[in-house]
Amino acid sequence: MFLPPTGEEIVCSVVGCERQMGVTDDWVFVLSFEIVARANDSRARAGVLHTKDGDVQTPVFMPVGTLGAVKTLSPADLDEAGAQIVLGNTYHLHIRPGEDVVAHFGGLSRFAAWNKPTLTDSGGFQVFSLAENRKITEEGVTFRSHLDGASLFLSPEKSIEIQTKLGSSVMMCLDECVSNPSEYEYVEKSLALTTRWALRCKQYKEQVNSKQLLFGIVQGGVEHDLRQRSAGELAEIGFDGYAIGGLSVGEPNEVMYEVVDRVMGHIPTDKAHYLMGVGTPTDIITAIELGVDMFDCVMPTRNARHGRLFTSTGALDIKLEEHKMSGEPIDKGCNCYTCRNFTRGYLRHLFKSGEMLAFRLNSIHNITYYLSLVRGAREAIINGTFRGYKNLFH
Ligand SMILES: [Zn+2]
Repeated sequence: MFLPPTGEEIVCSVVGCERQMGVTDDWVFVLSFEIVARANDSRARAGVLHTKDGDVQTPVFMPVGTLGAVKTLSPADLDEAGAQIVLGNTYHLHIRPGEDVVAHFGGLSRFAAWNKPTLTDSGGFQVFSLAENRKITEEGVTFRSHLDGASLFLSPEKSIEIQTKLGSSVMMCLDECVSNPSEYEYVEKSLALTTRWALRCKQYKEQVNSKQLLFGIVQGGVEHDLRQRSAGELAEIGFDGYAIGGLSVGEPNEVMYEVVDRVMGHIPTDKAHYLMGVGTPTDIITAIELGVDMFDCVMPTRNARHGRLFTSTGALDIKLEEHKMSGEPIDKGCNCYTCRNFTRGYLRHLFKSGEMLAFRLNSIHNITYYLSLVRGAREAIINGTFRGYKNLFH
């Protein structure tokens, strides 16, 4: 965040850009995203996202802390693994413990003793995936809690109000998620509503004068013309970053890559790009090449709790008999706490015995793997070797 002296002009710090950033007397200027390096043979780029809670080096992977905790991992574990920003779920935190409790403790980052940037989703995704008896109107969505069936209401303004109380570094606009495939007419109608909701989110954020960043979410299913329309309309409203939502929900991988590739041509290149809920290591490397900066996914932690571990030579199943007498670490190339100290044989024993330590040690390794993979991509982009990095990965 820049806090320039009153009335002073500052120049964009992106190399090669001579754009003057005007500052008025009472305006605190925030340059939300800077690009520090670009690959010369693809759209891959390395950048810095400036938030009120600190900078985030991109490309970045964001571990998912649904209820204000990444399952089985402490903030110290996340720190050692190299996490920079953690995601919290608005829907879950709204239902339990409630945003007023989180606000009472100074916001999500302090409440969870994380003390670094956080991103909250809008709550929309869980409303459409978890809640029961949804009813969508122009005003918002009425739904029943998946916990106790209580009737709840989420509007664009309510979502921003909740996220403001959660105090996240990055907020997301409320959008309607449609499943793939859906009828063209429905997707078209839905994205028009998502655009109107996005405008209301931005207006409400300005009304409450929040210093949190706000990202718009491009929808449009797998229809390229609708994705283009959604991206264009959101760009016109203007956001601190742009997310691509509604992917990895049933469509083939190649279709997802093509949608991302085409959308990238229609969202502002000077803002952060976030591909929501994606995905496998291959998906992430491919999307970085297409120009995506931010990722989140439950895959590393969920897989860890099922004994499936990611390594530089492919995924392995720690339950298998072949690991019983193995004195090897999960991955010789990994420097995480688990790989520095424990054998596959011991980790298999813990897992087979249902010891809780198994979930934690496995999660430490998988999160470290994801964070290292994306950090390596950033370094390769800066060093001009991203192509080689990607080929080596494959
Ligand atoms: Zn490891």
